[in-house]
Amino acid sequence: MARIIGIDLGTTNSCVAVFESGSGPRVLTGSAHVRTTPSVVAYTGERNSGEVLVGEKALRQAVTNPKRTILGSKRLIGRKVNAKDVGSFARTAPFRIVSAPNGDAWVRVDDTPISPQEVASHVLRDLRAQAEQSLGEPVTRAVVTVPAYFDESQRQATRDAGTIAGLDIYRILNEPTAAALAYGAHRVRAGRRIIAVFDLGGGTFDISIMSVENNVFEVLATNGDSALGGDDWDRALIEHWVDSIFDEYRVDLTSDPVAMGRLKEAAESAKKALSSESSTTLQLPYLHAGSGAKPLHIERKITRNEFNALTADLLDRLSAPCYRAMKDAGLAASDIEEVLLVGGMSRAPAVQVAVESIFAQPASKAANPDEVVALGAAAHAGILAGDDEEATLLDVAPHTIGIKVGSTGFAAIITRNSMLPVREHKLFATNLDDQDFVEVEIYQGESESITGNRKLGQVRLGGLPRGKAGTVRIKLTVTVDVESILSVKATELSTGKSAQVRITPSGGLSEGDLEEIVEKRRTEAMSVARPPEDD
Ligand code: AMP
Repeated sequence: MARIIGIDLGTTNSCVAVFESGSGPRVLTGSAHVRTTPSVVAYTGERNSGEVLVGEKALRQAVTNPKRTILGSKRLIGRKVNAKDVGSFARTAPFRIVSAPNGDAWVRVDDTPISPQEVASHVLRDLRAQAEQSLGEPVTRAVVTVPAYFDESQRQATRDAGTIAGLDIYRILNEPTAAALAYGAHRVRAGRRIIAVFDLGGGTFDISIMSVENNVFEVLATNGDSALGGDDWDRALIEHWVDSIFDEYRVDLTSDPVAMGRLKEAAESAKKALSSESSTTLQLPYLHAGSGAKPLHIERKITRNEFNALTADLLDRLSAPCYRAMKDAGLAASDIEEVLLVGGMSRAPAVQVAVESIFAQPASKAANPDEVVALGAAAHAGILAGDDEEATLLDVAPHTIGIKVGSTGFAAIITRNSMLPVREHKLFATNLDDQDFVEVEIYQGESESITGNRKLGQVRLGGLPRGKAGTVRIKLTVTVDVESILSVKATELSTGKSAQVRITPSGGLSEGDLEEIVEKRRTEAMSVARPPEDD
């Protein structure tokens, strides 16, 4: 049977791994021998004639091609353009974010609108090719990880990205669950263990509290900050240097994109160096050539203590989400047996000190934080393929599900973090005399008003018996199964008459849209493969 690969499709970087019977999961590096791939896609030249670059190649040309270089497409996948954090991302992104006809957030390259599913599919296709090079065999199936808080649209949109990339997404797995699997959290000892997965990547921070018992993984609560990540630490350093260069030479580097690109690279290297050294030196010869002025050669030393002082405010932002997650899970730091580190930025010593003070214990550092999620996805693929011992993964509903009441009110029925599968009932009555139908609108979200939540669908029950307002009673049954499929049934109690809807998640693209994109990709691939015809 062909193997199933595990993919960590990250906001900043992605990674692919496979499970080998006997030796366990390993990262697949492809012929370029890269362990992680930047989740960056760049369109060069005109969309229909230019090339699509992925990963390091795309990142390298980002400074000179900012409008056609898409970073962080994971922030847009399955999202509406009017969502608050999409808006704040759009304000700082160098490329254009536009609204698709259905209100989804898409990007626009030159005049072409492109769905984030298509953008992400290029990263998936690249990882798939990397896996095929390493394994020497075709790969068509994958387990792909997503943050635990991703809603159904975001999960479905991720699946759709896989379809476009020619991958059958066997399972969508929560990132903290993948990390816990890779750390072998289920093998430590029998009995219930509570663990925290602290994931600080390049662009986002996620904290999850999980329980692991008898090979059952359960995400108890998740929290985080979608606008906090390693990039912010880089930015603090860049701003510090831009200011100090301005003070010394009266040169404003922010208007020199090439110099800013070099500073960004240097800031990230310095930050990484400061994770293992107590000081480092920035050396950037010919950073800027002012008009008529001498070229600027910059050399700056920075110590770890100075760097920590510059970024103290960022560090402070790590604690509140951790406390909120513990509170949602009904647990205290003393209940947490182990803290697992995920995400490259969790390598910074100051971050590890913060983790230790929040959870009153040092974090486990046994695994490589850049690769642990992909390794866990591969371990899960191994379980699915029957190569590994059985482990069951249990999930929770990432959002509250409820109905519209009055003109804009929201009444919760299934609360966030309920363990799946879950079923809840709600009774209500007609509010008009001789009302002959009811229509119930179903929403998901944490706001008290439907305007802040997302509509999932509606169920209509007609042919109600005649009666005074308040006398005809309807029971609503809301079920979310283990695959997160939601069904809603409305039953009139005196007659037993009922209506039901099954709400299958939509990632924003219809089946027709998907087929069209897949077909277009196929023709593009064929025209590239075919030798040019002679006239
Ligand atoms: P991820 O999204 O998990 O790949 O994490 C990427 C982030 O981790 C980037 O901001 C990297 O600069 C950062 N990172 C990687 N290695 C280190 C390190 N040794 N020290 C500090 N940050 C790092």
